[in-house]
Amino acid sequence: RRIITTENLEEDVKIESHLRPQLLDDYIGQEKAKEILKVYITAARERGEALDHVLFYGPPGLGKTTLAGIIANEMHVNIKITSGPAIEKPGEMAAILNNLQEGDVLFVDEIHRLNRQVEEVLYPAMEDYAIDIMIGKGASARSIRLDLPKFTLVGATTRVGMLTAPLRDRFGVIHRLEFYTVEELKRIIARSAKVLDVGIDDAGATALARRSRGTPRLANRLLKRVRDFAQVKYDGYITEDVANYALDLLDVDKCGLDQTDRNLLMTIIERFDGGPVGLDTLAASLSEDSGTIEDVYEPYLLKNGFIQRTPRGRIVTDLAYAHLGILKQNHEK
Ligand code: ADP
Repeated sequence: RRIITTENLEEDVKIESHLRPQLLDDYIGQEKAKEILKVYITAARERGEALDHVLFYGPPGLGKTTLAGIIANEMHVNIKITSGPAIEKPGEMAAILNNLQEGDVLFVDEIHRLNRQVEEVLYPAMEDYAIDIMIGKGASARSIRLDLPKFTLVGATTRVGMLTAPLRDRFGVIHRLEFYTVEELKRIIARSAKVLDVGIDDAGATALARRSRGTPRLANRLLKRVRDFAQVKYDGYITEDVANYALDLLDVDKCGLDQTDRNLLMTIIERFDGGPVGLDTLAASLSEDSGTIEDVYEPYLLKNGFIQRTPRGRIVTDLAYAHLGILKQNHEK
């Protein structure tokens, strides 16, 4: 597995619940999201109402689940966590909704993966706080409406484009989470180091932050790995040297790229002459799913100018050639 995969690995689960900020004020970065949420949360609390439904989208590991938890904490309500692929039947969704209490948050991760029938249960639930249930069969079948407690749906997705319009339209707040700056990641790393009780100096935090590809989940994971190194070899303190040594061993380079990223860039350079190459062709060439390339690998490469999207496909930029140490014309090292 890639050390820098942004997916949630098993090793993250225990540590993530430990490191998750619980309140808006402890949540670092994403200033715009925080500002919007503060206003909505204050207003809803003053009116004694449930918060409007919220949709967060953006690459994995940027803090969508964390924000859902924070919303519940700030609203002083419970949170129920599920995901699109976990709910297979409309009845399961109806049961979950029916078990919520007034004001509760229902967090649905990967909400773009809900199947159509399950999704349709959400429409009246989100709009009117009600579900329609069919009773009886054949000619005598009729639908009755069941009232639900007023709840807040918080949806998260890496692929907002795959959401249907009727679902998207029912969210009052739709917000894209951004990659974090090195400064923000340093603050996250410093906070996590404190929680994990490990010493780290400023240069060490900077080295880690630079290689975390804008993603708190990675920053925490790298911190944890580097901590092990520091403990065994360097008296438990993380300096720039320790961080760089460990990260080199983990094969994460100075720009946060790992073997998979470099492989993607090299494939475009070597097989497609630097591009343009279409997403599907590239995916086939890498034996990867095109959705994974688009949602997981590409955003960071795009954001940092290693590749560009053009109408005719992806192209590798001069910056990528320079980073990889390759001459553009003849691809010689
Ligand atoms: P997502 O749901 O977008 O995949 P998560 O909410 O699970 O991401 O975040 C991954 C980890 O990163 C969490 O365990 C949390 O500790 C950390 N994290 C995310 N965002 C922040 C933040 N703004 N400040 C501090 N830690 C964060």
